[in-house]
Amino acid sequence: MSHGTELSVELTGGLLHDWQQRNRQATIPHAITELRKAGNLENLRRLADPSVGPYRGRYPFLDTDLYKTLEGLAYEVDRDDAPAGAREFYDEVVELLEQAQADDGYLNSYFQDPDQPKQPWSDLGWGHELYNLGHLIQAAVAARRRLSDGRLLTIARRFADLVVEKYGDHGEEVVDGHPEVEMALVELYRETGDEDYLTQARLFVDRRGRGKLKHTIFPGEYFQDHVPFRELPSVTGHAVRMAYLAAGAADVHLETGDPTLLAALERLWDDMVATKLYLTGGLGSRHSDEAIGDRYELPSERAYAETCAAIATMQWAWRMFRATGKASYLDVYETVLYNAYAVGLSADGTAFFYDNPLQRRPDHEQRSGAEDGGELLRRSWFGCPCCPPNIIRWMSELQDHVALHRDDTLYVGIYADARVTTEDLTVTVTTNYPWDGEITLTVEDAPAEERAIALRIPRWASDAQLDGQSVDAGWAVTTRNFKRGDVLRLTLPMAPRAHGSHPYLDATRGAIAVARGPLVYCVEQQDSAAPVDDLLLTPTAVTKAIARRQDDHLVLELTAGIAPAPPPELYPVLTEQTPGSAIDEVPVTFVPYFLWGNRQALAMRVWLRTERED
Ligand SMILES: [Zn+2]
Repeated sequence: MSHGTELSVELTGGLLHDWQQRNRQATIPHAITELRKAGNLENLRRLADPSVGPYRGRYPFLDTDLYKTLEGLAYEVDRDDAPAGAREFYDEVVELLEQAQADDGYLNSYFQDPDQPKQPWSDLGWGHELYNLGHLIQAAVAARRRLSDGRLLTIARRFADLVVEKYGDHGEEVVDGHPEVEMALVELYRETGDEDYLTQARLFVDRRGRGKLKHTIFPGEYFQDHVPFRELPSVTGHAVRMAYLAAGAADVHLETGDPTLLAALERLWDDMVATKLYLTGGLGSRHSDEAIGDRYELPSERAYAETCAAIATMQWAWRMFRATGKASYLDVYETVLYNAYAVGLSADGTAFFYDNPLQRRPDHEQRSGAEDGGELLRRSWFGCPCCPPNIIRWMSELQDHVALHRDDTLYVGIYADARVTTEDLTVTVTTNYPWDGEITLTVEDAPAEERAIALRIPRWASDAQLDGQSVDAGWAVTTRNFKRGDVLRLTLPMAPRAHGSHPYLDATRGAIAVARGPLVYCVEQQDSAAPVDDLLLTPTAVTKAIARRQDDHLVLELTAGIAPAPPPELYPVLTEQTPGSAIDEVPVTFVPYFLWGNRQALAMRVWLRTERED
């Protein structure tokens, strides 16, 4: 398929719009306060003024917290309802970056620190210098496109040009320990037309897995550096690194058309979806090395599923959709968006999960990532705060991942109240999605010529109807001479679903999870009179669940069985007696998974025990 053409999308109402409002009103002002408190600005300021004090924090990638926030702010600071203090913060950081950049273009406040014993470029495995550059580029491109402010782009190009000179076609053959710069360099190529940046991105993808990195604490697999990208047998190693690398490789494919990259990406994606992704779309099952884990290794209570990995998976999914046109990539995108990503942020927008488990045991002490102690649920910031500013920039960019226009077809893939405009077609989308599945698309403006509008039918939507006709999962395409006032009416049935697990998935084999539309649901102890560990569900009970409005969302009310008292032994000897059935029933309320953990820290389950149905 050809690349997309000009398209603008504005989210005008509904859940995604409310999330963006919350981002402006709560999350961004909160992040600005936290970034100032954490010393991210001082780390830049001290390069010109050593009296500011020593480097704050212990990681060499803390500048990226600023870059990701700037990337989000590029979408926000010019709005009438811009976040409080955002413009001042944006300008202050840009000016600090201008002052901090070294004469040769290098920029990293950790390595430029005069007291830092390590020299720049001396530790590409752990130094994150190109990862830093990647996030700088993405902020710079966003600022250029959204604000017509080229200051960051000037800084980013100077740094990128230094990298091309050092590590380009004729330079040293290295890669960074943390992929990210690949996506960014392709974007820089798109913005500037300078092919050196595309070449550099391709080189970084191609060089990986050929022993270019020094592996110290972590094995090569952690960095996806044990085999070349095209030969990777499965998504593996550090989850965020893997998904950023794949998204970058997809970008290289989008610009070069390299079929060997696409073949590897499709194979890796299909394997991930079939064996390594949580029901919520979370990626990464191991706290150890923040790794993806083996096939079917998907424990609920120790799920890692880092919020950044969710964002990276969405970035990869969107690029796969662009590369292939297949709706199935957006099915996964949507699952991640409403579950694994959204759960990373508190309902009030000022507290964050780093890892996103699917179960909380009553006596669990939440420990996020490498952090010690702290709050039992989400916390206001982290010593390694990669996730919060990543949430911010992605919230600001939600409208960029709703629709695509190419080959005279407008693809609407994510449903929300929105106004979608191509060069000659304007439509408005009206819906209460994801709370209900009625979606109305009204044509506001259309050319005399024929156009096509493609609407995504999610795989879960059996019996979907478009203008009264049954439509199958995939794209439902309507081609005609659209006129102003034409309406397309899509109905996606939202019956509650009971999900099981693949038989090899030991952690949840035989258990049931509840979903409705794109949302995974869970039960928190507050909403059950019986301990959540003793609840028994049946598929029939799930299909009889009643959806009820509560505050601004829908809960599901159903009747669960209560299991008899468990045997006292951890490992009882089995007899031929049939397992006991429920001794009683209890009403239980399920809440959307993304909303769990906004009350007192009690037990929570996505997967529940089952009762045999006779
Ligand atoms: Zn993170």
